[in-house]
Amino acid sequence: MNSAPLPFLPMTRPTIDEDTIAGVCDVLRSGWITSGPKVKEFEQLLSQLFGGRPVRVFNSGTAALEIALRIAGIGPGDEVITTPLSWVATSNVILAGGARPVFVDIDPFTRNINLDHIEKAITPATRAIMPVDLAGLPVNRDRLYEIAGKHGLRVVEDAAQAFGSNWDGRPIGSFGDLVSFSFHPNKNITSIEGGCLVMTTADEASLAEQYRLQGVIRSGTDGMDVIRAGGKFNLTDVAARVGIGQLRRLEEFTENRRELASRYFDKLDTPEFKSLGLRLPLPDFERSNWHMFQVMLPAGRIPGGRAAVMDALRDLGIGSGVHYPPIHLFTLYRGLGWKPGDFPYAEEAGCNLLTLPLFPAMTRDDVTRVVLALAAVLQTLIPS
Ligand SMILES: *Cc1c(COP(=O)(O)O)cnc(C)c1O
Repeated sequence: MNSAPLPFLPMTRPTIDEDTIAGVCDVLRSGWITSGPKVKEFEQLLSQLFGGRPVRVFNSGTAALEIALRIAGIGPGDEVITTPLSWVATSNVILAGGARPVFVDIDPFTRNINLDHIEKAITPATRAIMPVDLAGLPVNRDRLYEIAGKHGLRVVEDAAQAFGSNWDGRPIGSFGDLVSFSFHPNKNITSIEGGCLVMTTADEASLAEQYRLQGVIRSGTDGMDVIRAGGKFNLTDVAARVGIGQLRRLEEFTENRRELASRYFDKLDTPEFKSLGLRLPLPDFERSNWHMFQVMLPAGRIPGGRAAVMDALRDLGIGSGVHYPPIHLFTLYRGLGWKPGDFPYAEEAGCNLLTLPLFPAMTRDDVTRVVLALAAVLQTLIPS
């Protein structure tokens, strides 16, 4: 029996509803399309979500991180402790500010920075810890802030992937030091491009506004001053309106992702996949927003490695992704002194982790389809 081929299932896809599209059209017709009332509204809604803390939005998550480091006063001669298993933005922003990243290997179970090894990496030059909640699974905030407090360090949370995650019921971003999120289309909510920074004080929010737009400080009807050189990192009202539409769906998006992730566990947590050497992520359905569903392949047992699996899945109409090659092995970072073997768990994850499709509009049948395809691909590729 022949049936029509199923449409390609991407690794992720944003859900933009008709109300948001209509809202964007309204903004475009309004005569005010760059930063204005929609940016203010988006910031207020975000602040509500984070318990009233000050929030400012930017044109990327990367900008939010760079500005967080500037607000924390981190620059040349300073060290920032972070994970080698992240999107390269995490450590690029440290270099961009003139500081030096200090990598601490991941915990192979959470795939996040191993908090047990942070204290060994602290030197007199250490100024901050920048943890990443990979795939949305939050780093242990109790331990993180205990270590930071004990050593007088700032924390710049790169929570780009953790929008909608929580630590013991408290939303990530609603507590802590400087917390940065990204609204890139692949993230749990999007403003096309964009990001935000959650801060603690009004002074920090004022600095964020200055760094965001040329250092400009306005006063009265016609007053303007510049004390420090800011950049050009403001979000447009068009983008903010997309973000507002997404925010309304946050709970639904997170619920769908958790439900689909749980479906993956039902189908993948079997003796068959175990014997094929597949390793699953931590089954957390309380804290994680399930930004990604990442399995660890037995790539060493597969001729052609992970790429062969990805190619075969693509031939079956299924997208997959790599998150991430370890940062310290990029040419730029090797040039700064890092080498293979420095962070073995991050390197193993970098070679073996595969991100499977997971996004709010996916169905339970889509999960079944991915799992059946993965089983077929592994059985074909792994020599018995
Ligand atoms: C996406 C992401 C960023 C950067 O966000 P952009 O909006 O793309 O600039 C930084 N860190 C992590 C961990 C990310 O996933």
